[in-house]
Amino acid sequence: MTPIRTLEALHELADGFQRANETVGIVPTMGALHDGHLSLVRQSLDETGETIVTIFVNPSQFAPEEDLQRYPRTLDADLEKLSAMGVKHVFVPESALMYPPNFSTSIVPAKVATKLEGEFRPTHFAGVATVVLKLFNMTRADVAFFGQKDYQQVCVIQAMVEDFNVPIEVRVCPIIREADGLAMSSRNRYLDAEQRKTALVLYRTLNHVRELISSGQNDGFEIVTEMRQLLIDGGVDSIDYAVVADPKTLETANFIDGKVVALIAAHVGKTRLIDNLVIG
Ligand code: AMP
Repeated sequence: MTPIRTLEALHELADGFQRANETVGIVPTMGALHDGHLSLVRQSLDETGETIVTIFVNPSQFAPEEDLQRYPRTLDADLEKLSAMGVKHVFVPESALMYPPNFSTSIVPAKVATKLEGEFRPTHFAGVATVVLKLFNMTRADVAFFGQKDYQQVCVIQAMVEDFNVPIEVRVCPIIREADGLAMSSRNRYLDAEQRKTALVLYRTLNHVRELISSGQNDGFEIVTEMRQLLIDGGVDSIDYAVVADPKTLETANFIDGKVVALIAAHVGKTRLIDNLVIG
């Protein structure tokens, strides 16, 4: 497998798929691939005729103070993992190909982008939506595979696809966790041994929320108070948010009487971790 690095090569590939009437799956990633990413790839390989994995650390979704420079880049290992799974097509564009000098258009993401992550990373989802739309258009994929790990990202992409009538089907794949429950993430490698243990408190807290709700607690404020306490007691250094929300709009659920999603973003040392659990 040779990585695709030019638009000409990508167009040639897409033309061929179109002629052969193949269903094309796209799995957009930023690389540093782990089993979470690979589960999306597996699903695409199972469900579509051709799979294109994209690896691009998208600068426009990082704020200036964020970890763009030190974001892990492990291209050789990534390509090996994909090749071992039978992936034939990996698009690995340079920044200049995605953002040529005269590039100036950007997506204003849906309202759901303004909450939670949007409060702490106000430019993040504009960057995500813009690059994802470009990747959809460039690959002409029919089905796109995203992880529930980035719950709000899925909401933003689904809204964009609906609002812009993008001819693609969005599939949401479950969160893949380490044996002890930590959600897999490229950023977990920043954690030292002690922080790695602390990080488990996110999933512990989400499970506690599930238990509270199944034992009849329906007061959103009470639940969130307990979430915050558990996270602090568990040793996180700061909490960006810990909420129970409507699974579609991500509006805070003050009274719980149906399906909700509990979402957390917290810092352990300098590492920002996110996790979530759909309940009910
Ligand atoms: P990233 O490389 O972090 O942009 O992630 C690429 C895709 O992999 C996104 O759709 C993520 O939601 C998904 N992903 C990341 N971590 C996991 C995980 N632990 N389980 C399932 N999907 C994941």
